[in-house]
Amino acid sequence: MAERFTEWIYLVSAVLFILALKFMSEVRTARWGNWAGALGMLLAVAGTLMRPEVVDYRWIILAVVVGFVVGAPMGLLMPMTAVPQRTALSHAFGALAAGLVGTAEFYLRGAELSPFFMGVLCLEVLLGYLTFTGSLLAFAKLQELIPTRPIVYPGRNYISLSVLGVGVLTGLILVANRGPAELFLVLVGAALLFGVLLILPIGGADMPTVIAILNSYAGLSASFMGFVLDNKLLIVAGALDGSSGFILSMLMCKAMNRSFTNVLFGAFGQVQVGEVEKGRTVQGYTPEDAAAVLWDARSVIIVTGYGLAASQAQHAVKELADLLMGRGVDVKFAIHPVAGRMPGHMNVLLAEAGVPYDLLYEMDEVNPLFPEADVALVVGANDITNPAAKTKPDSPIYGMPILEVDKARTVVFIKRSLAPGFAGIDNELFYLPKTMMVFGDAKKVLTQIIAALKG
Ligand code: NDP
Repeated sequence: MAERFTEWIYLVSAVLFILALKFMSEVRTARWGNWAGALGMLLAVAGTLMRPEVVDYRWIILAVVVGFVVGAPMGLLMPMTAVPQRTALSHAFGALAAGLVGTAEFYLRGAELSPFFMGVLCLEVLLGYLTFTGSLLAFAKLQELIPTRPIVYPGRNYISLSVLGVGVLTGLILVANRGPAELFLVLVGAALLFGVLLILPIGGADMPTVIAILNSYAGLSASFMGFVLDNKLLIVAGALDGSSGFILSMLMCKAMNRSFTNVLFGAFGQVQVGEVEKGRTVQGYTPEDAAAVLWDARSVIIVTGYGLAASQAQHAVKELADLLMGRGVDVKFAIHPVAGRMPGHMNVLLAEAGVPYDLLYEMDEVNPLFPEADVALVVGANDITNPAAKTKPDSPIYGMPILEVDKARTVVFIKRSLAPGFAGIDNELFYLPKTMMVFGDAKKVLTQIIAALKG
């Protein structure tokens, strides 16, 4: 009876997980997506605790308390800018759990497993442990605990693939012989080492894409764990996690015009050149100058990027938009799919500040509107506006779709210096006669512009 009840609860959870993904694919419904996912997980845990094989709750209660004590402050206190590294940590622990369950199953009933289940168990362990060390390293790079630049050495791809080869070969031997147990340790060691080798040559700024890939590995590992434990919900949830992580990483690569292999093996960002071309001059303006231009404008398109997140300027930009709209100015926000450092970064920040969804325009919708705009106000963005993506075939961002701010009558850039963005390249736009560079922290400059407009 309890078994049957659990199966029903699992079915409802699976439906909620699917709905969560569906809801999260749109800004308007993203919050429901969170709730649906959380409810699905609550039901899944409750349903599992009702299974007859759970006979003692003491260790479980302890684990829930520890999880709550660690997880709740993380959720409440961690700033939005740290979400990528928080996600990396979650993957690390989820994958470690999958790896440990696989290890326990191997030692408890490895000898009885059929070749199919041994194969699945080996895949679970391989993906679980490599995701564990890979995600920990991704966390350390994003948190700048270790250097974020790609760490490259000769023959790195061959070395990494050889270590993976050792893991796969060991798995095959284990499937064929169901032992020896010592070989299992080689599999675990190869997986742990491969996770490190995979991430070392990848630059810190590529980590969000890598985290999406690691997400899909962790999901697959959980799905394999579902086979080993004969738990259908784990199979479904893991497969959903695995496939959605994979699709997300593909979308991110597409939006950056990078191939999957280029992200994983290209050591992108290795030459953080910062090549601001010598001998060229830019025109520096004050916030008051920018306010004067905005005062006269009839239409303004605001483009936000990573610097908005770094300076937490979302509330200031909303206040400025309100002020301009109060004067009858037509204000739009242009959203680039890879602005910031994680998918949906700008949507989340602007939603947090209360910017109405109907002011947000996707790249394809807004690009034709730039020639009509009096001002393109670029707040802490750089690469996503860089025309080199269209004009310089040797540029690392060549082919990436950009927001065509250069077509607006005046371009106002708010950033602290001429420093490059994530791609490490100079931006031709800074030197155009129609560009006004307003140097300073985004929040500070916006506050000064607001004060000048009010004054
Ligand atoms: P960029 O990294 O190109 O530029 C951000 C700019 O913000 C910098 O040039 C910096 O200049 C400025 N900045 C930093 N801090 C502040 C501050 N406190 N106040 C004002 N300005 C500041 O960001 P974009 O959003 O334009 O582009 C995103 C890049 O990240 C793309 O290259 C994309 O491919 C990449 N990427 C995005 C991912 C995603 O999922 N969104 C994932 C992986 C990579 P300065 O130092 O002079 O202030």
